[in-house]
Amino acid sequence: MSWHASVLTLFPEMFPGPLGQSLAGRALRDGRWSIDSLDIRSFATDRHRTVDDTPFGGGAGMVMRPDVLDAALGAALATGGDRPAVYLTPRGRRLDQAMVRDFVAGPGLVLLCGRYEGVDERVIEARGLQEVSIGDYVLSGGEPAAMVLLDACVRLLPGVMGAAESGVEESFSDGLLEYPHYTRPADWQGRAVPPVLLSGHHAEVARWRRAEAERITRERRPDLWARYTENAAAPGAMDGRPAAA
Ligand code: SAM
Repeated sequence: MSWHASVLTLFPEMFPGPLGQSLAGRALRDGRWSIDSLDIRSFATDRHRTVDDTPFGGGAGMVMRPDVLDAALGAALATGGDRPAVYLTPRGRRLDQAMVRDFVAGPGLVLLCGRYEGVDERVIEARGLQEVSIGDYVLSGGEPAAMVLLDACVRLLPGVMGAAESGVEESFSDGLLEYPHYTRPADWQGRAVPPVLLSGHHAEVARWRRAEAERITRERRPDLWARYTENAAAPGAMDGRPAAA
């Protein structure tokens, strides 16, 4: 069975949406992954199909009910595989490439998309949901976050990226941001391509790219740079120190 994503949402028609296009869309049509979206509202039991209620303790907004969400999660988890259940939320652990790789190594994901103020805390506890954030900002719903997470996962599934699109050297693959890219024309609006890239010396090109990746990471992401230099200094590290140190 292929890697399978179940998305629990109040807007099931949003999926696959952009994931039906381009690389992820081709992989979907090729059966390398599959997706189903479950309408949370269809698990409501009252006449009005209520999925939310006012917060105990007062305050603005509405909260998604635990009983309705639990029924939806139960249905999704019953459809096979021992898949992690994730609640997309700004207070979750921030998504990174290492987390994406872990998710890709498993059978798939069950993703709960919140709306309103979020979901009742008890369903997070009862179902042991992993809380994941896509960044320090607030979206109006979890659906775009689920799409971001799925896009990041699907491109890493075996056979999805061809050699030309290979993710081996891209940002975060070795703890660094990626080096700059150039293509034709070699001279554009008076801006020349760095001569080393036209030299044909593969080792020189590799050294330049490494140094550029390190410079960009050092300048833009001190947090990543600190981790990278720590790892490079650790006993057993591959080459002992960054190229540009
Ligand atoms: N009251 C919540 C808070 O302050 O943390 C925000 C709720 S938000 C308006 C509605 C839903 O959008 C959330 O339940 C969550 O599913 C989703 N969401 C918003 N921002 C997100 C983010 N940065 N990462 C992942 N999901 C997010």
